[in-house]
Amino acid sequence: MAFAEVLNRFADMDIVGVMERVTDTDVRRALANRVPSVEDYLALLSPAAAGLLEPMAQQAQQLTLQHFGRTIHLFTPLYLSNYCTNQCVYCGFNTCNGIRRAKLDDAQIRREGEAIAATGLKNLLLLTGEAPKKASVEYIGNAARLLRDLFPSIGVEIFALTEEEYAHLVACGVDSFTLFQETYNPALYADLHPGGPKRDFAFRLDAPERACKAGMRVVNIGALLGLDEWRRDAFFTGLHIAYLQRTYPQTDFAISIPRMRPHAGAFQPTSVVSDRELVQIMLAQRIFLPRCGLTLSTREPAELRDHLIPLGVTRMSAGVCTAVGGHADADETEGQFEISDPRSVDEMCAVIRSKGYQPVFKDWEPLEGAAGAV
Ligand code: SAH
Repeated sequence: MAFAEVLNRFADMDIVGVMERVTDTDVRRALANRVPSVEDYLALLSPAAAGLLEPMAQQAQQLTLQHFGRTIHLFTPLYLSNYCTNQCVYCGFNTCNGIRRAKLDDAQIRREGEAIAATGLKNLLLLTGEAPKKASVEYIGNAARLLRDLFPSIGVEIFALTEEEYAHLVACGVDSFTLFQETYNPALYADLHPGGPKRDFAFRLDAPERACKAGMRVVNIGALLGLDEWRRDAFFTGLHIAYLQRTYPQTDFAISIPRMRPHAGAFQPTSVVSDRELVQIMLAQRIFLPRCGLTLSTREPAELRDHLIPLGVTRMSAGVCTAVGGHADADETEGQFEISDPRSVDEMCAVIRSKGYQPVFKDWEPLEGAAGAV
């Protein structure tokens, strides 16, 4: 069974309508359950639960301490290429946007990697648009090979691949996968992706599962908040992780909760997610999925990120630039979207420590000969 079948089961259900009928008592019952059910998760995302954020926060904090201690993993993205054949209406790299396009060559990749490594980070996330003729799977794998002596953990946030292609990246030293479904609403997905290979909803939906099968150590998914009704997309993201955790117990999972940011292009988010609502999503996800990592990027402002550290976040980006070549090159391109928290790695570490938490750069080691056959 694939996650598409789980999603199909809910196809005719008015999730938001059901959530609107949830009562305080349902939410309190959900909080009292040691192992929350899918119904409990639904209750925790409901409008009624918005009035019970305090007890939810206490429980989320306890669970996070129990499973992760006081640690925050730090990583940063490296944008390899902004060439793109897709037309995602919310993204600055949309093929219709007349931005300057660029792709790093081997020497530039190395320079960019060295500039990032100088900050102390050991966990790198390689990003590209979807233009396999310009930035192919081989090109991305080669970038990982060029950088793996600097970064014991390398992730990719690229276009959806086949299982064999993911296996190729694993062999090149890539150990983590990030890919957002954007929205779990197939009709809206079609509207938001009017052209390009990313239009294939089913192929994207199945990508995390293919990454698990190909041996990715960490699989990170999410929905881009602001596209559909957030309660629905947050609900399905949680169900997606629950399905993957059940099916691939050897893989580590994480959820990102990205909110829409200003970008090159005219699209405006239809449903704006407030700070309180973002907190509710995070708390509900932590309570439903106690062992799942929670990633909070620099799309969020510094003050909010700092407040959320004790509530369930386990992974944060720092020292971020969303432009190709933005770390080592003065002549950088326009970024994919505007970030909100421009703080350096050192500054983030200082804040994390001031809260009694430990910034973690590295918590695993690739085994000799395990990767790198290519
Ligand atoms: N080409 C890859 C990587 C996309 S960039 C792919 O299609 O997956 C990574 C993520 O950034 C996207 O999946 C999307 O969820 C998010 N993103 C795109 N535009 C954004 C914007 N304007 N504000 C915030 N996040 C955005």
